[in-house]
Order: sequence, then C-alpha cells, then structure tokens
Amino acid sequence: MKVTLLGTGDAIGTPKIGCRCPACADALCGGRSRRLRFSILVENAGGKVLIDTSPDLRWQLIRTGISRVDGVIWTHAHYDHYAGFGDFHRVQNRVPVYGLQETMDYILNYLYFMRPKRNVVETGVPFDLAGMEFTLFEVNHPPICEAAGVLVRVGSKKLVVTGDTNLSIPEASLEMMRGADLLVADAITPPGYNLNKHMDSEEAVGLGRRLSAKEVVLTHISHLFPPHDVAIKRWPLGFDMMTMEL
Ligand SMILES: [Zn+2]
Ligand SMILES: [Zn+2]
Ligand SMILES: [Zn+2]
Repeated sequence: MKVTLLGTGDAIGTPKIGCRCPACADALCGGRSRRLRFSILVENAGGKVLIDTSPDLRWQLIRTGISRVDGVIWTHAHYDHYAGFGDFHRVQNRVPVYGLQETMDYILNYLYFMRPKRNVVETGVPFDLAGMEFTLFEVNHPPICEAAGVLVRVGSKKLVVTGDTNLSIPEASLEMMRGADLLVADAITPPGYNLNKHMDSEEAVGLGRRLSAKEVVLTHISHLFPPHDVAIKRWPLGFDMMTMEL
C-alpha cells in the first residue's frame, strides 16, 4: 500500500493568514512549512481511498493528478476534515463515503446538495474497500463526542492514522493501534502548549514508542513549530506530498 500525506496542516493551515512567524515566513517562500489542511491518500492495486477531505482538496487532487477515488472515509465532523468534498460536485458522482453515524449525519447535512453513497460504519468493525481492510476506532477529541482513528490492513502490513485526538485514547483502541508498520499521528504543536483536543509532538512520538510502531510520522501540524527544516531535526514531522510505501 502507498500512503500520501496530501495535507499536513492544522485547521488554519500554514501560512496562517496574516502571520509572519518563522514557519509562516518559510511557508510563504515555498518551504516545507507550507501545509494544506488534512487529507491522506491510501492506495494499492485495488484503488484509491481518501481519509478525510480537506478544504484544500481541489488543489490536492490537481497536484496528484487524481480525478476519481474509490471511497472516502471521514474521521470526524470538523470543517478542516470534510469541507473540500464539495469539490467533487460535478467531478465524480455517487462517491462511496464511510464514517460513524453522527459524523455522517453532520457532514451530509452540510453537503446537502450532493448525493454520495452513504455507508455508516461502527468502531471495531472492519470493512473492505478497494482491496484494503479498514477499521475505525474511537479516539478522544473534545468537545465533539464522536471522533475516530483509522486502521488499514493490506496483507501483513498495518497503517494506523490517529485522526484528531488527545493522548487519552481508549484502551480498546490502543490495542488495535499496536504494532503498526506506520503510525500517522496528530501533533499540532511542540511541547509547552496547554492542549485539550490534540497531542503535541512529544506525546505523539511517545505514543508511537509505547505502541511499538515501526515508524511514526506526525501530521496536523500548526505554524507554532519552528520552520520544517529546523523542526525535523527533533521530531518526525510529515510534509505535504510525502509518500510512504508499506
Ligand atoms: Zn483537524
Ligand atoms: Zn505563523
Ligand atoms: Zn478536529
């Protein structure tokens, strides 16, 4: 399976509008601190699946040359994870979409002008899509009460995407996340910020170690990190269009 981080930014994206901090300055000059909002492409011979549909999805599809996907999985109903799905309007009809019940209700209400193929799934119950096995698991992302991470299996390979979450992930989910070949983890800031909804980079790396992940890549990264080329010396930050083969 091939994994592409289409967007590694937080809800604001980097550069943040109007900001001239070091990361935003690097982003404005075209450096790797430039980050679109959250989408991940997972593909194999059987097809292509998007995990979340960033508000920046249109540009993400244009630059990857993709005009069709086999399915979309939504982790939760935050704007930065679904709003770009509207860009499928008049591009691809009847896209199969997957998510938890309330997440689907919320997003499809927002996207009332579209008619994707709705598939409500439950946490802990695997489903097949494009030759890959997906399972959603519960994470913790207050104040919303329903947020999921995604486990993807192809053969013996295991990809885990935490989705947006703080460190208080339920034990049953931690069991499912254990031993990933690749853990793509939410890390919105470096340590030292008072976070409630997300992990910081030390927490995310520590989680990967505790769960014996073979490789950890951080995403959902804000402009509060130093510029990418500096930050990467301390933490395994992802960057837009980074690809990994499992
Ligand atoms: Zn988010
Ligand atoms: Zn900034
Ligand atoms: Zn969120």
